[in-house]
This record gives sequence, structure tokens and C-alpha cells, in this order.
Amino acid sequence: MMHCILEIEALGKTYKDVHALQDIQLSIAAGDIAAVIGKNGAGKTTLFKCITEQVFPTSGTLTLYGKKDAAGIRQQRRTIGAMIEEPAFFPDFTARQNLEYFRQQRGIAGKEAVDQALRDVKLLDTGRKKFKDFSLGMKQRLGLALALMSHPALLILDEPTNGLDPEGKAEIRELLKNLNAVKKVTILISSHVLSELQSVATRYIFMDRGRIVEQLTAEELLDKTRRAVELTVDDSGKAATVLEQQFPDIPFRILPGNRIRLSGGTDRTEQLNRALYSGGVGVRSIAVTGEDLEEYYLGLLGGERHA
Ligand code: ATP
Repeated sequence: MMHCILEIEALGKTYKDVHALQDIQLSIAAGDIAAVIGKNGAGKTTLFKCITEQVFPTSGTLTLYGKKDAAGIRQQRRTIGAMIEEPAFFPDFTARQNLEYFRQQRGIAGKEAVDQALRDVKLLDTGRKKFKDFSLGMKQRLGLALALMSHPALLILDEPTNGLDPEGKAEIRELLKNLNAVKKVTILISSHVLSELQSVATRYIFMDRGRIVEQLTAEELLDKTRRAVELTVDDSGKAATVLEQQFPDIPFRILPGNRIRLSGGTDRTEQLNRALYSGGVGVRSIAVTGEDLEEYYLGLLGGERHA
């Protein structure tokens, strides 16, 4: 059994009349790479800020390394490295000068912490290049280096791949995997796009309008997305009517080219075929296939799928 390092119970945060977080239950085990997935405004940033004490929850409790009391939690927070909002780096400083400034400001012992953090994010050889001349990917990686400088056991990163090109996103993913595998850093990371964290996360936490709507392990997500049936028919409108009437428990989507994708029913392909045929629908093909992960997520967070 994995050691639980962060436990959140019934956490809520209200800004005037906005329920930014409602009844959040969450536990993070040592070694997890937990991905919080949600659209803009889902509450990801607020959740992370509650954990790092940048905002105070309206209700609920937080347990960090078994500590529940304010003093204990404050002590344990020192083991958290966070990148929640863009760090205010000095544009005319180099990577090393920026980190050295923050090392002194935060009282982090040992000058070598700077080099180590730069090495971890592959920015050791940027020499005299100033921050203002960095690519967005380099800026993000420097933010990550700042979060790593205090040797955190838990790293909290709010949308670190936002705005990066595919290469930059891949670099961040590789870095995170490496930190997790080699340095045993537990990672809590958010994105509004599931596919960006798909190959890294060991767990997925889906958030919508301040609530956690589903939590899945990587295996469970994979399993769920293997359960689709794709039909090609001669009349998708007619087929939709048959499906709604006879298989109301199977959600489906109509795709271009008279195709229909069902999220489920992989063990009922014969019945589906028969029902459609009896309903006057010509079935050209029927196949069990994998559901697109992004589609799964859209459906979960109130996309345009039929229920
Ligand atoms: P994004 O990806 O856009 O950052 P998010 O999932 O991180 O979205 P939050 O920033 O946590 O979402 O916002 C959750 C809700 O709380 C939103 O409705 C937002 O408008 C509201 N909110 C956040 N901060 C404040 C604040 N300081 N005052 C008032 N409302 C706020």
C-alpha cells in the first residue's frame, strides 16, 4: 500500500457567490503523478492554492504527511515545490542569476542547489542568455527549476505545458517522468487538455465547476476507453432513434460519414446489429474499437454527447 502524503476532505472555497471548490475529496500517494484535468474555471488553480496556502479554504480539512494542525501543516509545506502562477523572473538576468536571487531570498542553503536545479531542467548551458530572450519552453523550465530548488518531495504544477509547442510539451513530460522515477518526486499537475498528460500521469482527477467528477487510475482510464463500438450505417438519424429507444443505457455520438460511436455495448454487438436491422437500418460495418481519450473527457465534462 502506497504511503498517503496529502489527504483532502470536504474542501470548499467560495468567493462571494462563486463556488470555486465544492466538497473536494482527494488523496495523493507517494510516487503518484496525479493529473487534474478540467476546463478553464473548473477550480484547478484554486485547489492548488488551497494546498499551498495561497488562499484559505472556506471549509474542509487538509492533511499533509499525517499533520492536520496548522503548525504541523505549515512545517510540512516546506516539502512542497509549486509553480502556480508565472514566477516574476528578472528579464535582464540570466537563468543562473534569477535562481541565485530566489535562492538567497528564500534562504535555501547551498549555492549548488542552483546548478542542480538548472541541470534537472536541462538549462545548465544557457550561459549569458537573458531571461527575456528565452523561448516560452525555457521560461517554463526555469519556473520548474525554481520549484525544484528546495528539493521538494511534492511538486505542484499548474498548467506547465500551457502555450508550449508540441516539442516543448514533450520536454516537460519527459522531465516530469524523470523526476518522478529518479528523484521519487510526487507530482500534482493540472491541464485543461487530457492528452497533454496522458502519457505521464498515473492517476487522473477530472474537475468540473468546482467539483471532482471522476477519479481514475491510468489503467482504469485505458480500460474505459477500450470499450467503444463503431457502427457504419446507411442512415445515422434512423439508427440514433433505434439506439435511443432500445439501448438507452449506451451513450453514443454521431460522427461524419454515417458513423456512430457507442461508449459501451462491446458485448452486445449481435443485439445491436439485429435491433438496427429490424428497425430498417442498413448496417455496413460494426466494430469494437478504442474510444478517443479526449472524447471520453469531453463526455464526462458535459460535452455534446448523447446521454
Ligand atoms: P483556469 O484554467 O482558467 O486557471 P481553473 O480550473 O484553474 O481555471 P480557477 O482559477 O480555480 O479555475 O477558478 C475557479 C472559479 O473561481 C472560477 O469561476 C473563477 O472565476 C473563480 N475565482 C478564482 N479566483 C477568484 C478570485 N480571487 N475572486 C473571485 N473569483 C475567483
